[in-house]
Amino acid sequence: MKINFKIKKLETFTNTYVSVVKLTMFDDSIGWGQMSTYCADITCEIFHRQIAPHVIGVSFSSFDDLEDLILRKEHKFPGSYILRALAGLDTALWDWLGKIKESPVVTLLGGNIGKIRAYGSSMKRDITPQEEAQRLCHLRDTFGFNAFKFRIGSECGEGKDEWEGRTEEIINVVPKALGNGVEKLVDANSCYLHEDAIEISKKLIDNDICHFEEPCPYWLPEETKKVTDAISIDVTGGEQDCDLRVWQDLIDRKITDVFQPDIMYMGGLTRSLKVAKMAADANMPCTPHAANLSLVTICTMHFLKAIPNAGKYLELSIEGEDYYPWQIDLFDGNPFMVLDGECSVPDSPGWGVQFSKKWLEKSHYRVCEI
Ligand SMILES: [Mg+2]
Repeated sequence: MKINFKIKKLETFTNTYVSVVKLTMFDDSIGWGQMSTYCADITCEIFHRQIAPHVIGVSFSSFDDLEDLILRKEHKFPGSYILRALAGLDTALWDWLGKIKESPVVTLLGGNIGKIRAYGSSMKRDITPQEEAQRLCHLRDTFGFNAFKFRIGSECGEGKDEWEGRTEEIINVVPKALGNGVEKLVDANSCYLHEDAIEISKKLIDNDICHFEEPCPYWLPEETKKVTDAISIDVTGGEQDCDLRVWQDLIDRKITDVFQPDIMYMGGLTRSLKVAKMAADANMPCTPHAANLSLVTICTMHFLKAIPNAGKYLELSIEGEDYYPWQIDLFDGNPFMVLDGECSVPDSPGWGVQFSKKWLEKSHYRVCEI
C-alpha cells in the first residue's frame, strides 16, 4: 500500500508489562499502537534508541519502506526485542491510517467488521483438571463459547508433567465435562519429544481433541514434523517465530498443519500479513497466537477477518484479574465482550479501541521528537 507520511513525534506510556505508543505526523494526525507485552520497559528503551531515531522526520511512502529501513540500520540486532518494539510503531501506523481514512483496519485490508468466533484460552497449568473443567463449563454456559484450549505437560518441560498424572487426567476430565458440540484444543508449550507426543496424541484422539499445539520444542522443527506426519489431528505452532526466513522454512516443509504467528512478536501487522500470505500460497491456515487482553487480541480480530486463509477462531484469553492484573483497565469499555461465543471487531476507525486516560496517566512517559 503506497501512502506518503512523515513522523514528527513518538510518545510512549510504559509499565513493566505494557508499552503504548502515540504517533504524531507532521500534519498533526495521530495513531495509537502497542509494543509486545512483558518486559515492556526494556522494549521501550529499545524503541527510543533503535527504532524512533531512524524514522522521525524522514519521508516514507509505505510502511514496508519504513520497516525495511529500521531493520537494515539495526541489521546486527536480528532478534525478538527489536521486533517487539517495532510492533509499537507498526500498530500505531495502521491505527493512524485507519483514522485518516475513517475506516477500521480490517476494512483497509479488504475484510469486513462483524462477529468472530472465539475460543476460550486457558493460560493456567497450576489448576487441577476438576477446577479447570468447572470454570470452562461455567464460561461455556455464560458466554456461549463452543471451543476451549487447555494446557498439558509443563512449559518447555522436557517431557515432565506439571505434577504427576495431571496431563492424563485433564485429557480425560475436561473434554467429558465440556461435552459434544464444543471443540477441544490442547497446548503443550514445547514439552515433549516426538515419541511422547505421538503417544499422548492417541489419548487426545480418544477424547475428541482436535488441536495439538506446540507438542515439541519449537526450536526442533524436525521433532514437530514427525508428530505432524504421524497423527490425524491438527498440529499447530509458530507463536515464538518472528524471522520471515524461519517462517518460509516452516511453511515450505509443512512443519505444522496450522500456523500461529503472534502479531506483536512478529513486529506488527505488516510482517504478520507476510506470514499469512506465505501460508495462503501454500494453502495452509493461519490462526494467530494472542495470549492476553491487550492490543494483540484486537489486532488479531482485524487480521483474521481480512485474510483469506484465516483459521477457525480467535484465541481469547480467559484469564482475569487474579492471573493478569496488569491488563485490567487498559482500554475504555470492554472491547473483548463475548456473546454466543463470538467477539465483535471494533467498528470505529483504526483499531477501534481507546487506551484509557487513567491507565496512561499512571504509566511512565517518554517522548522522541525532532
Ligand atoms: Mg501456545
